[in-house]
Amino acid sequence: MTKPRVIYWFRTDLRLHDSPALQAALDLDPGVFWPIFTWDPHYVYRARGGLNRWQFLLDCQNDLSESITKLNPKSKLFVLREAPQTLFPNLFKFWKATHLVFEKDTDAYARERDSIVVQAAKDAGVEVIIRSGRTLWDSDQVVAKHGGKPTMSISQLQAAGSKVGKINRPIPAPGHFPDPGEMPIDFERGQPETNPDFNSERRTETDTAYSRIDGPNGDFAIETMEELGFPSATTTHRGGETIALRMLNEILADKKYTATFEKPKTSPAQFEPQSTTFLSPFLHFGALSVREFYWRVQDVVKSFGKGASSPPESLTGQLLFRDMYFAAQAASGPVFNQTAKNPYCRFIPWHLPSKRDPSTGLVTGEYHVDSEEAETWFKRWKWGVTGFPWIDALMRQLRTEGWIHHLGRHSVACFLTRGGCYVDWERGAEVFEEWLLDHEPACNAGNWQWLSCTAFFSQYFRCYSPISFGQKWDKQGNFIRRWVPELKDMDAKYIYEPWKAPLVDQKKASVRIKGDGLTDIETGTYPKPMFDFLQRRTACLAAMKTAYQVGLHGNDSQVLEGTWRDM
Ligand code: FAD
Repeated sequence: MTKPRVIYWFRTDLRLHDSPALQAALDLDPGVFWPIFTWDPHYVYRARGGLNRWQFLLDCQNDLSESITKLNPKSKLFVLREAPQTLFPNLFKFWKATHLVFEKDTDAYARERDSIVVQAAKDAGVEVIIRSGRTLWDSDQVVAKHGGKPTMSISQLQAAGSKVGKINRPIPAPGHFPDPGEMPIDFERGQPETNPDFNSERRTETDTAYSRIDGPNGDFAIETMEELGFPSATTTHRGGETIALRMLNEILADKKYTATFEKPKTSPAQFEPQSTTFLSPFLHFGALSVREFYWRVQDVVKSFGKGASSPPESLTGQLLFRDMYFAAQAASGPVFNQTAKNPYCRFIPWHLPSKRDPSTGLVTGEYHVDSEEAETWFKRWKWGVTGFPWIDALMRQLRTEGWIHHLGRHSVACFLTRGGCYVDWERGAEVFEEWLLDHEPACNAGNWQWLSCTAFFSQYFRCYSPISFGQKWDKQGNFIRRWVPELKDMDAKYIYEPWKAPLVDQKKASVRIKGDGLTDIETGTYPKPMFDFLQRRTACLAAMKTAYQVGLHGNDSQVLEGTWRDM
């Protein structure tokens, strides 16, 4: 009997350890085994993936490829530069594949894409095997055990999860990789240019390099930033399974840190190294298995005994939050990432609200500019020139490094929405989508809803001050000095409120507090605050109170018509 000819499609699982899907593929005892990664126009052209996240992805791909080659010198991660929807029908036919195996992805776009690929496999008589591996529990099973509804709290997640069963222990990395087969790509049709998905507005002159499915050198090599037409990344953080497992080992070696971790006690102002694990980007790309993380921490907690922390503050508690958002999104579908048509999301009449496609109700990525002032505030927030040094330091760290501490994310998200600017949370989520290394559609949208008090959390009267919250962690303002070098010599007395520094102190610190940071930038200056924070907080609180009293949600008809805006 001829052995199976298996395509293994790497996507959200760029690792060898603890991969149920990879294990299922190898259990087929393939005669031919192609480990591949395909480009996807949703990410290459349409989505707002920033340069730092691209670099992190390339790191993960390179590391995985090297690990595969160590197991079989004839093999590696083969990168194909075409959309999976149009590529797979040809691979099935010309590579004579019998099986396609991949890890389940419950993101809205991924589900749509995968359903097309699965149908193509069915048409070609190719067997498809899909395994859950991205979360502690299979998110679809959690949803099924939660009555088909989104999990809106950790306790709901835990209750549904316990009905699904015990969280699986991680499985070991494979010890061998079968040989790849022939990989013809001279399909009987044009190259990617004939694919309408590739004719997007994001094409550039460098796209000529994309004309080969197997890459510029015809060897299915991992793409480079140069091939993608991107300048160098700015982040110092590097990706890959090898680094992830090393970092996890180092964290676990500190048993006290691991076992007594309490998130609210970790400092958002601590940097190089940060106060939390920094494992989120590795989890995002699947370079680290979440079950590996969970069980190894759990084992340390068990051996530590008395004094260990517990969920939700503990380290495993953090992973439960992750699963909670994944399951919430899995239940909601594409509307999870927006207010419109989302019955679980409170309607707040924010400034700069999203435009929707009237036929689908889905947001288009464009915004109504209903207030020029708020548009300016949004820009100043995004580029880290609000005049509030704590906020600006965080936003500059985000832009440069692609990561900020959770409580830093709290500060900037609260400030942009209900605690300052009253700008639509979707606008902030879009900036995070572009700049975060760990951008996860479910976690990003869910946390923005939490911080803007539109879902998950409702205590809108608890606001983060852009001044005293940072001071609580870092009196001297060292975090600000690191990311806002204009203020590096400012007296600690004024570092959170430099506009209060008398001229003589500004002179001493070689900085002048003037301008808006956007239009009249002069060297040696730092902008004035863009508004009086206390005034804005009072206005926001009053508006939130009214919105809560009116009590509309994203699926209410008034919202769909966009009729109610008063701020
Ligand atoms: P640790 O504190 O070490 O936690 C360990 C792991 O638990 C993290 O790696 C992460 O996978 C998970 N985790 C921790 N907190 C959360 C949380 N609140 N929600 C979901 N998972 C959590 N996290 C993302 O992974 N992707 C995102 O796109 C994302 N966007 C966010 C947007 C906002 C506005 C806010 C407030 C938070 C967001 N988070 C997101 C959650 C959280 O800030 C990050 O997961 C965390 O800061 C990552 O750093 P760490 O790995 O050191 O976390």
